[in-house]
Amino acid sequence: MNWIKRVLHIGEKIKKVLKKRPTKEEIESSDWTSCCKGPVLKKELEENLWVCNSCGKHHRIGCRQRFDIFFGKNNYEILETPIPKDDPLRFEDSRKYTDRLKEARKKTNQDCAVMIARGKINEINITAGAINFDFMGGSVASAEGEAIITGVQHAIDNNNPFVFFPCGGGQRMHESPIALAQMTRTTLAVNELKKNNLPYIVCFTDPTAGGITASFAMLGDVAIAEPNSLIAFAGRRVIQATVKEDLPENFQRSEYVQECGFVDLIVERKDLVEKIGTLLSILLKKNSVISTEENETSENSQTLTRAAS
Ligand SMILES: [Zn+2]
Repeated sequence: MNWIKRVLHIGEKIKKVLKKRPTKEEIESSDWTSCCKGPVLKKELEENLWVCNSCGKHHRIGCRQRFDIFFGKNNYEILETPIPKDDPLRFEDSRKYTDRLKEARKKTNQDCAVMIARGKINEINITAGAINFDFMGGSVASAEGEAIITGVQHAIDNNNPFVFFPCGGGQRMHESPIALAQMTRTTLAVNELKKNNLPYIVCFTDPTAGGITASFAMLGDVAIAEPNSLIAFAGRRVIQATVKEDLPENFQRSEYVQECGFVDLIVERKDLVEKIGTLLSILLKKNSVISTEENETSENSQTLTRAAS
């Protein structure tokens, strides 16, 4: 009977370990998080823009954290965006959609997954948007669509370039066709931005997939990505099962997607402000170095023309 006692003893031990596991809420409210080398203080990670010092992993961040990094703390204004009626389809799976929304709002302190802000970089007024993955996986539904369109409209009204930091799994199934319609609506909004000759810069963050890559996120004049971000339409397993071939290790990661030509630049978080600032200065012809060079070139050509005549 000894073996039975041993099995029971092991069972008790497993129970103890399982009991000791922290809940989701405990993990979120903890001062610690984990990365390659085990526990890391969230404060330390925050000081390094939420990038791991050891492995360089760019941890996921919320919209306010993104704007804090991009514009600088207290250096931007969050714009109000319309919130359509919740739960238009009265959707319910294992839980009510309205309960899921309530929980996401409490967790993120946001009304919907998208936030729009305005601020300045390099003396250029910018309208910027971001998605928070913690808000129902960054999925896009009617409120998110409205927020993106409001951002684009603000950019057009103020003659601002539009910078967007997408992430998320795609359209939110709880709003089925209404969520799908946001793909068309946001695409049309981006087209309006282009008709007004305003630069539109997209910076992919981990993970961006589904309807988000299939609509507004892939339409940037310049497509930037943070290192090692997942950028995909369908998931790896679905593709592997369809093509029945082994896929490379870094499949659908920023570096691979850049090789395929869907991403122009991979930029570390600490360099994003400088890089986007420079790009916008060039696109808006506001770079003093460029304008000086242009003047010199035109002066030289005038001298040449005079000499020739
Ligand atoms: Zn790490």
